[in-house]
Formats: sequence, structure tokens, C-alpha cells
Amino acid sequence: MNLLLAGDFDVAERDRWYGALAQAMPQHHLAVADELFDRTRVEVAIVANPQPGSLRGLPKLRLIQSLWAGVEGLLSDDSVPASVPIARMVDPALATAMGETALWAVLSLHRGFYAYARQQRQIRWRQLPQLRADELPITVLGLGTMGCACVHALAPHGYRITAWSRSDAPRDLPSGVAHIHGNDALFECLRGSSIVINLLPLTAATRGLLDARFFAAMPRGAALVNLARGAHVVEADLRAALATGRLGHAVLDVFEREPLDEKHPFWRHPRVTVLPHAAALTDPRSAAQLVAANVQALLDGQPIVNLIDRARGY
Ligand code: NAP
Repeated sequence: MNLLLAGDFDVAERDRWYGALAQAMPQHHLAVADELFDRTRVEVAIVANPQPGSLRGLPKLRLIQSLWAGVEGLLSDDSVPASVPIARMVDPALATAMGETALWAVLSLHRGFYAYARQQRQIRWRQLPQLRADELPITVLGLGTMGCACVHALAPHGYRITAWSRSDAPRDLPSGVAHIHGNDALFECLRGSSIVINLLPLTAATRGLLDARFFAAMPRGAALVNLARGAHVVEADLRAALATGRLGHAVLDVFEREPLDEKHPFWRHPRVTVLPHAAALTDPRSAAQLVAANVQALLDGQPIVNLIDRARGY
């Protein structure tokens, strides 16, 4: 089978992916997008944020397999054929990493580590109030692969967690975790949330959800942890909420424009922690095996796993 690897990679990253994928599927022919090859023979495109238009002119394409979990870029690219199924990356290693990042951010907020880091820069010795974990209600937006991983990582530490999803479909949650859906329930919940962790997909319904109205519903001094997509947040509204003290701190892994411009005020903001979209990185070693399993399923006429629903947008 002819496979195409296309993505927004630097050369070292592309070589790492090429090596892992070629090793996992030695029986197939894998080409990279800028090579000279016969595009009319490509049956599977393995992609990571490919440039818009890069999947044009692939008449035999049968599957688009994303190496990343989020697929909003593919869905907004008119040149991606609507009839070809898109599978996204759902790798337990990625979910584990996301759970670890959420736990790190929550513990850092809970135990005042950001405030103590600010104090250290000011050479200031002052103890802050110490809350118990159950005094810190947390809302997790999105209860998919990543949201569930975070809930499972946080719950054993005693946090009071409410998770918000689109549907009320039951899921396997640790005891004590509340599950809500619908906008009214969300805004009611925000009123008592010390920390909001965003793990929604970027869709028409979720773009810009975290705006002035959203932040106004949170208690004064609450924190935001955005690990999903930058465009979920209306940045001007976030900056205003930080300026008024409505939000006490924001941990931001994702931004509307990445990499974050070096002049961007978030870099130097005393109550913003910037991460370079590193909350959970796809590991080529495990991900290549998952891609190989989907390619084999396509060959065998078996169901492809982790297909996205284009109408829902995730
Ligand atoms: P997922 O499995 O598709 O889960 C999405 C969740 O969001 C589901 O629970 C879904 O509800 C809920 N949802 C969707 N639309 C909603 C709406 N309008 N209102 C309320 N809930 C809604 O996605 P995932 O794999 O967990 O990924 C979550 C996010 O993390 C994505 O934005 C992804 O791009 C991002 N991500 C970031 C990194 C990083 O390094 N920063 C790494 C991986 C992923 P239902 O369960 O009812 O369908």
C-alpha cells in the first residue's frame, strides 16, 4: 500500500516520524510530501497539521490518519476530500501525559507554587493559606479521551471535580466525580469553580466559549488551565479578567497563533504560565503502532478505529 506522510514538521521531527512509521509498516511504501513520487497511487495520508491544500490530487485516497488528537485544521481545509474518512490519534500514552500535566498544573495552583515563585523573585518570605484538596472545586470542560484522563489523574488526590460534556452518555468515572451537560449547568457550576481545565475539541460550538461572560461567572481569583486549543479563549477577555483579578492565574499551553510571538505580553505576565503546546506530545514509538493497526484494518476490510464525526466536528 502507498502511504504519504505530510505535516508541519521540522526535518528532525519528520525523520523521527518517518523512521517510526517505516519500522512499524515495513511492508508498505511510505513517501514524504516533498518527495517526487506518483501521488495518484497514495491510499493513506498520515498527517500532522498538513499545509492547507496538501491533500489535493490524491484520487485513490481511502483514509486520512492524523498523528495529532485535534483535527480542526483538516476539517477547515476545503481540499480535504469530504468522502474520505479521518481517523485521529487516540494513544493511551498521550492521555497519560495529559493527566500528568493537568495534575502538575492543579497541584501548582493548589499549593501556591506560582505565588511562591513570584515571592521568591521579590525575595519575600510569607506563608500563604493552605487549602485542603476538597476545598478546591475543579471543573473539567470535555470528558473525552483527555478530559477523562485528567479526571482519573486528579480524583485520587481528593479534588472535588465536575466534568462537562456535550452529551449525557454515561462513562466510567471515579466515584464522587459529577458529570453535567448543557450550558445552564455549566454556568451554574462555574460559580463555584476554583480551577477550570479546558479539554474541549475546537468546533463551531466551542470556539470563543471562554469569553468575558464565562470568566465573569467564575469566582474572583479562580484559575484557568487551557490545555486544548487557543481559539477556545477570547484572548482580550482573558487579559481583562487577569487585569481585574477576576482570574488569579492562567496556565496556557495553547494559543491562537503558535509559536507565541516573542513580543506577546503573556510571556512576561506575572500571573500567566506559558507552555509551548507541550501538555501531551504524541510519541512516535507508540503512535506508529496505532497507525499501523488502522492501515492493516483498512487492508483487511475491518473497522477503522477513532474515526471522527465530520458533522459534530470532532
Ligand atoms: P475527544 O475525545 O473528542 O473529547 C471531546 C470532549 O468534549 C467530549 O467529552 C465531548 O462531549 C466534549 N464536547 C465536544 N463539544 C462539546 C460542546 N459543545 N459542549 C460540551 N462538551 C463538548 O477529544 P480529546 O482527544 O479528549 O481532546 C480534547 C482536546 O485536547 C482537543 O482540543 C485536542 O486538540 C486537545 N489536545 C491538546 C494536546 C496538547 O498537547 N495541548 C494534546 C492532545 C489533545 P461528548 O463526550 O458528549 O461527545
